[in-house]
Amino acid sequence: MRGKIALEEHIGVEGLEVAPPLPEGDLKNRMFETDALRLREMDEHGIELAVLSLTSPGIQGEPDRGRAVELAQNANDRLAELVRRHPDRYAGFAALPLQDPESAAEELTRCVTQLGFRGAMVNGYTTLGDADTAAYYDEPRFLAFWEQVEALGVPVYLHPRQPLASQQRIYDGYPELVSAAWGFGVETGTHAIRLILSGLFDRYPRLNVILGHLGETLPFAIWRLEHRFDLRPHGKRLERPVSSYLRENFYVTTSGNFSTRALAATIVELGADRVLFSVDYPYESIGEAAAWFDSAPLDEGDRERIGRNNAEALLGLPR
Ligand code: ZN
Repeated sequence: MRGKIALEEHIGVEGLEVAPPLPEGDLKNRMFETDALRLREMDEHGIELAVLSLTSPGIQGEPDRGRAVELAQNANDRLAELVRRHPDRYAGFAALPLQDPESAAEELTRCVTQLGFRGAMVNGYTTLGDADTAAYYDEPRFLAFWEQVEALGVPVYLHPRQPLASQQRIYDGYPELVSAAWGFGVETGTHAIRLILSGLFDRYPRLNVILGHLGETLPFAIWRLEHRFDLRPHGKRLERPVSSYLRENFYVTTSGNFSTRALAATIVELGADRVLFSVDYPYESIGEAAAWFDSAPLDEGDRERIGRNNAEALLGLPR
């Protein structure tokens, strides 16, 4: 399929020393390269537009509040320059200093209204103070931030990061599981459930949150979650059934999960209107993602919706 739009496509920004540095090599070269190879591969595999974001953990990993604010502004300015160089090929998701929710709301507003960004990419919980402290976005301190997100009408992509160092006991002896193979999904899926059960979407019903990796296992798990929550809600009350929030306040992308059977189940559970094509470049290969998606046994209308139309509508792109 030509004209695809991809939403979980990462970049590095020189001088922004937040993430542990990537080892020298192909992955790092691709992360920082934006003007030749990346565009050529997008061309070869039918991706017209990539929404770019700072790679994980990005700003979320910065323990110092003031520095987080500065780094986010700097990263967003650099991303805006890149989008200006290639306005037909790239769009931007803002990096946000959620260490300071008010500044995050202001920075998102600046990015959307002045830089033309299409929303934000947030890399999991935010480090606060020291590296083993986390803030999750269902906490009351973030309500004003979410209010502004809803007012701006843009989506927030909740991207994985590793679980806190003190909460990795279950992976002892299995370091291969801590991140993308498994731990990312548990961490991010649980964070998304916290957002749902906190009542955030009852308060701000027009919020849209995007999850990668075909929804971090939630489409598969949502029936049981709803079933057990209804039996034992521990005093929590929601206005709608748990699964309806996943269907009405979330979108999921195909990033890094190129399974036709999992995609089919996700479409059955959420509807093809809620699924978006993505790669997760440069951690995943554009060629592999596109070859899989283009030949997956889909209804052609669904392929167009997932490959392009849903993203155009969600991101407010000119058609
Ligand atoms: Zn990613």
